[in-house]
Amino acid sequence: MVRVRFAPSPTGPLHMGGVRTALYNYLFARQKNGTFILRIEDTDRSRFVEGAEEYIMESLDWCGIKVDEGVREGGKSGPYRQSERKELYGKYAEELLKKGSAYIAFDTPDELEELRRSYEKKGNTFMYNARIRDRLNNSLSLQKHEVQEMIGEGVPYVIRFKMPHNEDIEMDDMIRGHIMVNSSTLDDKILFKSDGMPTYHLANVVDDHLMEISHVIRGVEWLPSLPLHYMLYHAFGWDKPSFAHLPLLLKPTGNGKLSKRDGDKLGFPVFPLYWPHGDKARGYREDGYLPGAFVNMLALLGWNPGTEKEIFSMDELIKEFSIERVGKSGARFDAGKAKWFNHQYMQLQNLDDVSTEYIHLVKGKGYDISMDKSRRLVDMVRERVSFVHELWEQTDFFFEAPSSYDEKAVKKRWKENSPALMEELRSVLEGLDSFGSEETEKEVKEWINKNEYGMGAVMNAFRLLIVGEMRGPHLFDIITFIGKEETLRRIDRGLEMLT
Ligand code: GLU
Repeated sequence: MVRVRFAPSPTGPLHMGGVRTALYNYLFARQKNGTFILRIEDTDRSRFVEGAEEYIMESLDWCGIKVDEGVREGGKSGPYRQSERKELYGKYAEELLKKGSAYIAFDTPDELEELRRSYEKKGNTFMYNARIRDRLNNSLSLQKHEVQEMIGEGVPYVIRFKMPHNEDIEMDDMIRGHIMVNSSTLDDKILFKSDGMPTYHLANVVDDHLMEISHVIRGVEWLPSLPLHYMLYHAFGWDKPSFAHLPLLLKPTGNGKLSKRDGDKLGFPVFPLYWPHGDKARGYREDGYLPGAFVNMLALLGWNPGTEKEIFSMDELIKEFSIERVGKSGARFDAGKAKWFNHQYMQLQNLDDVSTEYIHLVKGKGYDISMDKSRRLVDMVRERVSFVHELWEQTDFFFEAPSSYDEKAVKKRWKENSPALMEELRSVLEGLDSFGSEETEKEVKEWINKNEYGMGAVMNAFRLLIVGEMRGPHLFDIITFIGKEETLRRIDRGLEMLT
């Protein structure tokens, strides 16, 4: 039975790298008919941030990543918030003490700080480990009765893992293969703090065991913790899950981890949703990204499908994703590519859905349009945009006559004979009974050809009068949409202003 978990700490807005971790876990679970669990790792109360847990859940919802067991969903392994499980961890720390795999340490933070400094002075790094633990203030160096007395007197203590000396720890990672680390390079990590709370390591391993997690898929920043986690499973005598450590998301330049500051500097979000607290941050959702595009882009940041295919729906991702095709080296984020994905998804989106959004957009500018008109406009210009909000820049002239005329375009396109041509065009248009796009185009072109006026000379000047600059879709579609009366009015006004 595949059971995987996403285990974020609610310390702020969830980074897009975190969303990718959740996504890969979710895809893996769905593909294997397994269970996707959301566990909130909030034992470090000093780093707890109000609103972060809600943000995590809302982000997953927006992405379409559905949680099977979690804080909201419940489930057989609950509670899923570590702060609600805190009574449970002490017992496991005790178990390790009894087995001799952990010990009690009374060293105060000040004492440790002093040691650290004196080591540094000699150019060394202090490590609480097998080499020196016997000389420090702990249950391995003190007499049994001394330890009992100190505990009785309420002297604060922590519980540390007793990392063995000079032992090769052999590990396997689904992405990185076989890994070996010698235990002498590792220190005796704190498992249980003096405030009665477990550290990440203990709580994480205990919960993965109790929740029967079969595969741990997480960011590579946790790889250095893997030897300790292996040793903990070993000490408890528990079966280990399989592990996969995902590559980093890199800055667009390729060096270093993608951070919020890169986003601020280069103008793209690094968080799925807007973060409204404290140091506010923009989000993909509010920037106008479609969740499918965001998810698709994220899926390919680290995973390589092995084909040229780039557009994947969630169902296709579930079918085709494989951990074996996740790379070891960091995946470079490309903001241009993110936009490209959104462009693709906007073209694939149901016309009625975009049109409904467009009606809202237009309403915000002070205009009411019918669904039918909205559909026509969206259909005309959607291939030119990557975001719904960009539709306005492509269609503003359907609602508003130009108030000025682009200088460069006037210089280039408004010729000496333009006023005469436009006067004549005006009467051609005025004489038309029907004002459909195809009819007007046919009539106007016949008139141009008959008089040998030159298509460019007429059409460019005409566009300038209708739009105010050299942009927009097919001109006959524009005039049909605004209607004969408005077309003539714009010609008159332009002639007046440019002549
Ligand atoms: N709480 C850790 C985090 O915030 C979880 C790491 C893990 O998945 O083991 O990323």
